[in-house]
Amino acid sequence: MRAVLMGPPSAGKGTQAARLGTELKVPHISTGDMFRAAIAAGTELGRQARGFMEAGKLVPDEVTMGIVRERLAYEDAQSGFVLDGFPRTIPQAEGLSKILASQGVKLDAVVLIDVPEDELIRRATGRRICQECGRVYHVEWNPPPGDACECGGALVQRKDDSPETVTERLATYRAQTEPLRDYYSVEGSLAVVDGMGDPDEVHRRIVRVLGRCS
Ligand code: AMP
Repeated sequence: MRAVLMGPPSAGKGTQAARLGTELKVPHISTGDMFRAAIAAGTELGRQARGFMEAGKLVPDEVTMGIVRERLAYEDAQSGFVLDGFPRTIPQAEGLSKILASQGVKLDAVVLIDVPEDELIRRATGRRICQECGRVYHVEWNPPPGDACECGGALVQRKDDSPETVTERLATYRAQTEPLRDYYSVEGSLAVVDGMGDPDEVHRRIVRVLGRCS
């Protein structure tokens, strides 16, 4: 299965893509995670990506295409993958389709996780992450035991989850990523899934639509 999970920031792409990857036994490839890992490791890629990410903007297409091209060439991606947060622009979608065509394959499904904007803002701005163990809390519906994580680690807000950056990320999504909805609808590979509610239920909805695509 070669699938793309699309959706606005905080739609639940990361959670759903990780789970799908495990179940389908294919790698979960998240460009956001790759950039965050590069920033943490202090690499040149991290240096290039950091400013864009903290401002809620997209990393330039050439940079993003470079890391995806490299990742899709790995052995573990040859029998399938779940892409999370990529493509995010029309040139990226065109680039992806060229890479796959050069391998003689194509996408099986593009799933758009749909969540209303006021809910996205609540999800992102309430998220807190433990600096020690990486556990993710939400101040409203999954609050930490106190000021710190269960493991004692300090809780932080991801820089790009601040209200100003979330607003900017949503504007970026509308301007640059939403056009992909039409792009993939025309191709006939798009399925829209309701991203509201319990993550288990959203997962079941995704599995249901993927069943129709494979
Ligand atoms: P995510 O974790 O998918 O929300 O991505 C976090 C940030 O990484 C985004 O707000 C962008 O700044 C950057 N990023 C992730 N994926 C892409 C992409 N496909 N194209 C450009 N920038 C990206």
